[in-house]
Amino acid sequence: MQRYSVITEKNPREIVLLRGQGCRYRRCAFCDYHQDASCDEHANLKINTEALNQVTGKYGTLEVVNSGSFCELDSSTMKAIIATCKAKDIATVHFECHWLYRRFIPALRESFAQVGTQVKMKIGVETFNATYREEIMKKGIKESDPAKIAQGFNECCLLFGLPGQSYESMMEDIETGLKHFGRICVNIMVENNAPLQPDEEVRQIFADKIYPLYKDNPRVDILLHNTDFGVGD
Ligand code: SF4
Repeated sequence: MQRYSVITEKNPREIVLLRGQGCRYRRCAFCDYHQDASCDEHANLKINTEALNQVTGKYGTLEVVNSGSFCELDSSTMKAIIATCKAKDIATVHFECHWLYRRFIPALRESFAQVGTQVKMKIGVETFNATYREEIMKKGIKESDPAKIAQGFNECCLLFGLPGQSYESMMEDIETGLKHFGRICVNIMVENNAPLQPDEEVRQIFADKIYPLYKDNPRVDILLHNTDFGVGD
């Protein structure tokens, strides 16, 4: 499993894939990421320290992903992340958080502010069509107003390539995301072991008609494969 990588294009940054206790929500119909998890805090810290030790601070920006939300990382790992940010002069650290845990974000921002690091928080919204998101994707965001969803978050993930999505729906999601968030990350659905599986025709519409419009936009990351950031397997 590759747990450290460097993203050199758009918002250049180092990225680490850390292991935590695992996603507690685990209901998203498209997701099987929560398999990279363990309740063994000591073993998690060993793996995570190896990844964090590779961080150089070359861009002053670090992204931390962990197959779940930041608050599912052990406290010992979080201390190691803070220590790494301090030692390597990381000005900005990015984390991910499910909507359910948004009340824990201010305390995290405060912890990192003490070492001079700003936190950018990303939420997996997947789509702003609340009916599709909750009835099909089972995402668990009980709010339909994009402005209210964005409160307390800086960035969002969108998920395309699923049955029922269209050129119009994907374009609307991207433009809504760009209106309410500083940056967006578009993930293209790939086959996995989850109940909801990709629709090849929708994936092709994205590749042919939408990808060319946004591929050079510095506020839009696009992952055609979920290992495009260089971490994972
Ligand atoms: S997408 Fe995120 S919140 Fe949903 S089940 Fe997967 S890891 Fe959990």
